[in-house]
Amino acid sequence: MSIHTQQRPPWLEPRAAYIHVPFCAHHCGYCDFAVAVGKDDRMDAYLDALKIELQTLDTPRPVDTLFFGGGTPTYLPIRILERLLQLVRTWLPLNAKHEFAVEANPSGLDRAKVQLLADFGVNRLSLGAQSFQPGLLHILERDHAPDDVARVVEFVQPIIPNYSIDLIFGVPTQTLDQWQDDMRRAIALAPMHFATYGLTYEKGTRLWKQREKGDVRALDEETEYDFYTAAMDTLSANGFEHYEISNFARLGFQCRHNHTYWANHAHYGFGVGAARYVDGVRELNTRDFHAYIQRLQAGESPTFQSERLEPRDRAFETIAVQFRRAIGIERQQYFEQTGFALDSLVGGTIHDLCGHDLLADDGQNVHLTRSGKCVADAVMERLLRAN
Ligand code: SF4
Repeated sequence: MSIHTQQRPPWLEPRAAYIHVPFCAHHCGYCDFAVAVGKDDRMDAYLDALKIELQTLDTPRPVDTLFFGGGTPTYLPIRILERLLQLVRTWLPLNAKHEFAVEANPSGLDRAKVQLLADFGVNRLSLGAQSFQPGLLHILERDHAPDDVARVVEFVQPIIPNYSIDLIFGVPTQTLDQWQDDMRRAIALAPMHFATYGLTYEKGTRLWKQREKGDVRALDEETEYDFYTAAMDTLSANGFEHYEISNFARLGFQCRHNHTYWANHAHYGFGVGAARYVDGVRELNTRDFHAYIQRLQAGESPTFQSERLEPRDRAFETIAVQFRRAIGIERQQYFEQTGFALDSLVGGTIHDLCGHDLLADDGQNVHLTRSGKCVADAVMERLLRAN
């Protein structure tokens, strides 16, 4: 097979690929991802289907970044993990200076798996710690203990020194002291990166049902605001740059793969529930695990939704995602990417939002201020209303 060459700009030609690995040991109460629990006997069948989907590329497509998300990619037993790595590296070979990131859970991760990942070029690990408080882990229905994270970091660090720690704030009953303690304990583990997410109650999840029944109480907005500003202060004071609404990194350790999404650049996506954006067409695979396998086995597409956005809609979508970044939107680059002058679309709104100290504008770049980051959803809504 010949290797496809890349020449077009990154918003048209994918240089990033996401692979969804749905398997998990159990289903956490707040989780709304496409996960497969109790289907371990279907792992090989899933990889067979994934292979068929990858073969639709026709030729191997070199990429700069690869990301295995889930689910829990590291839940796969070594033999199947190796098969997956071989398969993906065949169809999506990595360019020099690549980033190859994998999500991992502290439970079920061992040195042999980390070494295998590193042998196949994985150079970034994202550890789902979420919290170091036993009570909060229990509410989230996570299946690891607080000390598991430090135990895992001990063998991850020498093999893959670039690891990120994921933390969740806004968990029912969580106090600000507990959140500060979570950050302090996570910082002590010397990660290069943090992803901090406010807990959301996704419709249909067990946690959502518990809230509906009154069994758990969501924290109020003010408390969540305090948690978020505490994260900005504590992580910045410890040398982590707040480079995206929910992400903080040491210099040189921002997640390159996720930047693809925040730039609104093209990307491939394979696996159940995976999203892709190729040649201006957004596609979403079915979230149904069995349907995904069956369709591919029958020679059918696993695509569930496909939409070609109009240029103006795409331009507004680009505004929404690029404003997530600390660098915000650079006017000239935005024009080259979308064909629209930013001010012709939202110039008046930008002016208003600057007047309220929610955006800052130096004539070339526009970005969220600290206050703007705290109410980012409302700022985006205002900007998108102009469409
Ligand atoms: S481990 Fe992650 S993907 Fe799996 S169920 Fe829990 S939150 Fe969802």
